[in-house]
Amino acid sequence: MPSHDVLIIGAGLAGQRAALAAARAGATVAITSKVHPVRSHSVAAAGGINAALNPEDSWESHAYDTVKGSDYLGDQDAIEIMCKEAPDELLELEHIGVTFHRNDRGELGTRAFGGASAARTYYVADITGQAILHVLYEQLMKYADRIDRYEEWFTTSLLSDDEGNCCGCVARDVRSGTMENFTAKAVILATGGAGQAYKPTTNGLIVTGDGIALAYRAGAPLMDMEMVQYHPTTLVENGFLITEGARGEGAQLFNSEGERFMERYAPNKVELASRDVVSRAEQTEIDEGRGVGANGAGLHLDVTKVPRKRILEALREIVNIGRDFAGTDITREPIVIRPGQHYYMGGVKTDVWGQTPVPGLYAAGEVACLSVHGGNRLGANSLLDTLIFGRRSGEHAAQRASEMALPQVSDTQLDDDMAMIDRLISRERTGRRIAEIKDELGTSMNKHCAVFRDAEGLDTCLQTIRRLKQDAERAYVDDRGTVFNQDVLGAIELGFMLDCAETTVVAAIHRTESRGAQFRTDFPERNDDEWLKHIDVSLGGDGEPDLSYSEVTITQWQPEARTY
Ligand SMILES: Cc1cc2nc3c(=O)[nH]c(=O)nc-3n(C[C@H](O)[C@H](O)[C@H](O)COP(=O)(O)OP(=O)(O)OC[C@H]3O[C@@H](n4cnc5c(N)ncnc54)[C@H](O)[C@@H]3O)c2cc1C
Repeated sequence: MPSHDVLIIGAGLAGQRAALAAARAGATVAITSKVHPVRSHSVAAAGGINAALNPEDSWESHAYDTVKGSDYLGDQDAIEIMCKEAPDELLELEHIGVTFHRNDRGELGTRAFGGASAARTYYVADITGQAILHVLYEQLMKYADRIDRYEEWFTTSLLSDDEGNCCGCVARDVRSGTMENFTAKAVILATGGAGQAYKPTTNGLIVTGDGIALAYRAGAPLMDMEMVQYHPTTLVENGFLITEGARGEGAQLFNSEGERFMERYAPNKVELASRDVVSRAEQTEIDEGRGVGANGAGLHLDVTKVPRKRILEALREIVNIGRDFAGTDITREPIVIRPGQHYYMGGVKTDVWGQTPVPGLYAAGEVACLSVHGGNRLGANSLLDTLIFGRRSGEHAAQRASEMALPQVSDTQLDDDMAMIDRLISRERTGRRIAEIKDELGTSMNKHCAVFRDAEGLDTCLQTIRRLKQDAERAYVDDRGTVFNQDVLGAIELGFMLDCAETTVVAAIHRTESRGAQFRTDFPERNDDEWLKHIDVSLGGDGEPDLSYSEVTITQWQPEARTY
């Protein structure tokens, strides 16, 4: 049974940054991941990371843009910390070896991003996530005396002791099927978002909301779950992302009439308004019959507005994506895009040190909700969030660990999880296939809990989720082996996604107003009198979601009308 001071579940940017911070603070660390760490979804991050580093920029300006972007649902104390600490974090990355783009003068260069009043996005071409993730991974190896890596270990449950402290997890070695208890004085969830609850999504197949559901089942509240971001530029066929960096570099959006329609919706910022605003504008154009492509279901993103040399230098990955997945040469012709699921603003409720209300349990990165993104995240603020709050969680967890003894853990949960997997494997092969259930879930979420929502659609979606929960209990598991049994893991992930979807839709039904990514056609106005508050969702004793509210922290920016 491996035991450490700090156990980190997830090895994307948040998990790796947390591991580094905890190790630097003297803790022994286990970092686990269900895939090889550099295959975490963070590797796909393209456009960049925000920091107000230029002398003419300021953290206050970054914070104000973030608050406005959040539609005033973001907690301003957390936003202030993130924006103040951003420049040092960026320089730290530079110093450990991230090769950020430099301009002609040899200085760190920036690109513009949506919702920002200054160009403050630092980047490595359009592979920023990959560049940072690989450098952090080298750092983990440098601390090999204190950091043990458990690659391809899948967490099935969190462990708690008699006093209710979180003290480890149960995990399955994907390669052999062996199950083990991992014990620790502090546990940091860094498991990423839940995009696969939607179809299509820009998120990788592994982004299935595991940590959100694990925490919820362990008694931790979730927050802002109704706030799900649709990115304005994803491929119509398969949801692949075309980075906002394209619009940052000057690409423009056009409807079937050749009109640059964003001039109507956001006269100042045009294509670089915040994502919720651009996605809504696009969906309106499509719904009103001004779409392009098959069934008029898309719009044109014209990247040819960017000089070809610059495209090939700064946007080379999307040149490949366009060619390989849409048959379009973006250096010569517009590409057909539409809004698609991209990011979970909501997640496990934490404070500014990553602590959840469950003692010993922390969360950082997309799995967590502080909330720095509120109703709508600004592009390039997520990488920043993973690093700042990954680091802070790692430091705080190491501190906690230094003050306590290793908790005692029984084998009860381990036995329960082994029995659960035995039951999965020995099911009658009569139920529906997991992929089929997942497909129906994602399609329903994308239809009813997307850019525009109303009570009727959301209710339909909730009924579907509840029916699919029953189907999932009986779903067909094909593979009965122990080696790389992805079928069993898929069945467990499906359960996680259903919990995420249920809490998302329940909160979306409850919030009878429009704010950020939640646009209710039946309640089209923002209503600060009643709804300037977070919805928290906890698992009730009856197995149903229980809703309560928490205050939005306002430090210096009072809610105003939001225009771009
Ligand atoms: C295509 C794409 C492009 C993006 N571009 C940008 C960008 O340019 N700028 C920006 O700021 N943001 C961007 N984002 C968002 C940002 O990349 C993510 O929000 C962020 O990287 C999430 O990092 P994370 O560390 O929280 O989780 P992830 O990187 O998703 O890592 C999750 C980790 O948890 C592990 N895990 C999950 N479940 C389990 C389990 N049950 N057991 C064990 N391990 C588990 C996984 O193996 C993985 O290691 C982009 C997102 C996508 C999808």
